[in-house]
Amino acid sequence: MNSRQSTATSQSTATRPNTARRSSKDDPADLAARRELALAVIQRLKAEYPLAECTLSYDDAWQLLISVRLAAQCTDARVDLTTPKLYEKFPTVAALAAADPAQIEEIVKPCGLGHSKARDISACMRILHEQYDDRVPDTFEELLALPGVGRKSANLIMGDVFGKPAIVTDTHCIRISNLIGLVDDEKQPAKVEKALWKIVPPEEGNDLCHRFVLHGRAVCVARRPRCAQCCLSDICRHGIAIIS
Ligand code: SF4
Repeated sequence: MNSRQSTATSQSTATRPNTARRSSKDDPADLAARRELALAVIQRLKAEYPLAECTLSYDDAWQLLISVRLAAQCTDARVDLTTPKLYEKFPTVAALAAADPAQIEEIVKPCGLGHSKARDISACMRILHEQYDDRVPDTFEELLALPGVGRKSANLIMGDVFGKPAIVTDTHCIRISNLIGLVDDEKQPAKVEKALWKIVPPEEGNDLCHRFVLHGRAVCVARRPRCAQCCLSDICRHGIAIIS
């Protein structure tokens, strides 16, 4: 990726300024401006990161469930180092459902919070085995009812596994949405998710969130966003303030 080069080309295809200003969140004009901004962001990030894939490795849906649980307060890289060891010993939902949680904990403890993560994985796999014939349910409500599965994880499964509309409000999504001006001073995941549902086309949400992760790692890094190299610098509220 050549950020500077792609910035020049992508900005020529979507040059609208950031007109999403701090006002009533339900003001129709404000919502319209945020929708327009969201579309411009989607267009540019698509050009910058053509592949919008989950950064966690998995072969089956139940493995993604486990990976997202392990990813809490842990890096994706460490999760991807850990899960092969887990599946080598327990290769199926049934095997994990039958495992002693202490055996699971022994393997997953490098990801941190080993006890609670092992407990949730064990309970979750038991439910999949006993109630869902070893499959992952395909409704948001059923996913949310599984141990250790929150809105972020349920959205990720809905989007990546079942190809349904999803907004995954992880740390990159929340931080970058605030910086750009898609949301205002909103840090609570559920509120960011609700705000983004109003302005992001449903079919674009899942891929946009994957691209936020890629952008948050490559350019809009947490400690010092590289606004001068960013393809969003002329439409991002923070970028405009920094560069002008
Ligand atoms: S312009 Fe700066 S703050 Fe805005 S998305 Fe790009 S790197 Fe992040």
